[in-house]
Amino acid sequence: MPESKRRNNKIKGQGSRKDVLAADNGLVLSEVEGRRTCPERKRRAADVSVELMSITPNAEDVIERACRTCYLSFHRYNPPSSTEELIKKVIQKGHHSVLEHALATFRIKGGSRVFTHELVRHRLMSPSQESQRYVEYGKTKQFEFVTPPTIRKTKFADKFKELSLQAFDFYQQMVKAGIPKEDARYILPNATTSEIVISANFRELRHIFAIRCVERAHWEIREICLEMLRIMKKQAPIVFWDFEIDEKKRIAIKT
Ligand SMILES: Cc1cc2nc3c(=O)[nH]c(=O)nc-3n(C[C@H](O)[C@H](O)[C@H](O)COP(=O)(O)OP(=O)(O)OC[C@H]3O[C@@H](n4cnc5c(N)ncnc54)[C@H](O)[C@@H]3O)c2cc1C
Repeated sequence: MPESKRRNNKIKGQGSRKDVLAADNGLVLSEVEGRRTCPERKRRAADVSVELMSITPNAEDVIERACRTCYLSFHRYNPPSSTEELIKKVIQKGHHSVLEHALATFRIKGGSRVFTHELVRHRLMSPSQESQRYVEYGKTKQFEFVTPPTIRKTKFADKFKELSLQAFDFYQQMVKAGIPKEDARYILPNATTSEIVISANFRELRHIFAIRCVERAHWEIREICLEMLRIMKKQAPIVFWDFEIDEKKRIAIKT
């Protein structure tokens, strides 16, 4: 299926950051700025999208049946009540390996390289990220950068934008002069956006949410992980039942 069609064919529960933030409380995650020569992309609002690409079908049932193998307790298999009872019990007891039988894949667009660098530190998660060795900004894709909210409304915002665009101009000059993209990219800011696809099993997703959705996590990874958590709570409500999202504080805590 072509990418454009797949995007329209959204799985229930998924949505773009823009939609969610606008609907929830009007907060803006970040400002992704476009190239000067492309005015329609100038100064547009947040446009970070978190798309659930795929998920293990009947994930919670798969987990229950896998888990029942340990105890050969299929006589107790009586979904949906037995599924909820068993999954909650194994999570509380720390028998988390059974959650590894279910997997989810997300495509995340519009986050900065600051965000992706933090995300890819999770070793049990599998990433495929847009390569700055092969992708040419201004040709393969627009150069975009994220301005953090703490900077956006200050006197530093204009300079932040100016220097980011200057770095991009210089990048383009170097590439045009024959400098390889993989070396010209050294001048690009951490704020540069990057597309990434990640796959992780439910155990790893729970771990990521537990440490990235809390107050001490950096705002950008927190916001994006919160969106993944919102989706997972819809898709697998039992496995993620103990994560409570505080939409006002924009955090989630494990109860
Ligand atoms: C608030 C915060 C601040 C941070 N600050 C810094 C920082 O200043 N500098 C920095 O470098 N990083 C920092 N990090 C990143 C952190 O050090 C880890 O790289 C990141 O959390 C991913 O590793 P992990 O162990 O949490 O989980 P994952 O890599 O996702 O692994 C999941 C779990 O699998 C197990 N596991 C995975 N690999 C191993 C292994 N080799 N041996 C044993 N068990 C394993 C562990 O139980 C682990 O918790 C920070 C993270 C957070 C949340």
